Amino acid sequence: MTADPFRDRLHHAGLRATKPRLAVLEALSASPHADAAAVLSGVRDRVGHVSRQAVYDCLDALTAAGLVRRFRATGAATRFELRTDDHDHLACRSCGALVDVPGVLHRLPRPTPADQHGFTIDEAEVVYWGTCPACSTP
Ligand SMILES: [Zn+2]
Ligand SMILES: [Zn+2]
Repeated sequence: MTADPFRDRLHHAGLRATKPRLAVLEALSASPHADAAAVLSGVRDRVGHVSRQAVYDCLDALTAAGLVRRFRATGAATRFELRTDDHDHLACRSCGALVDVPGVLHRLPRPTPADQHGFTIDEAEVVYWGTCPACSTP
């Protein structure tokens, strides 16, 4: 074990622990549910100038390795997060706040569409849209 858990995660995933990759993981740990632009500025705060493409490449590699989850709430930019377990999101229409809630997929009885069309379902993404407490109080 090294002192740096992100370094270990990268090694376990078979990825080299490059500075930009480590910075992407740190940026996401500091701001969960960041979009690509927020990740980019978080990375630049940590390691100085890194090209947009380099950061996108990191996000692709980390997502493919299962270290980062990518999700998209309708009408919002693609977001990235370190939590890769099954969970859903509460989303505020007004300020865009996102909150993690336990996923419905592992709940029993498992909710399924009325017609599965023969699909074997192994993942479901649910976004509950509404208004957060801060935006509800005038
Ligand atoms: Zn809000
Ligand atoms: Zn989340």
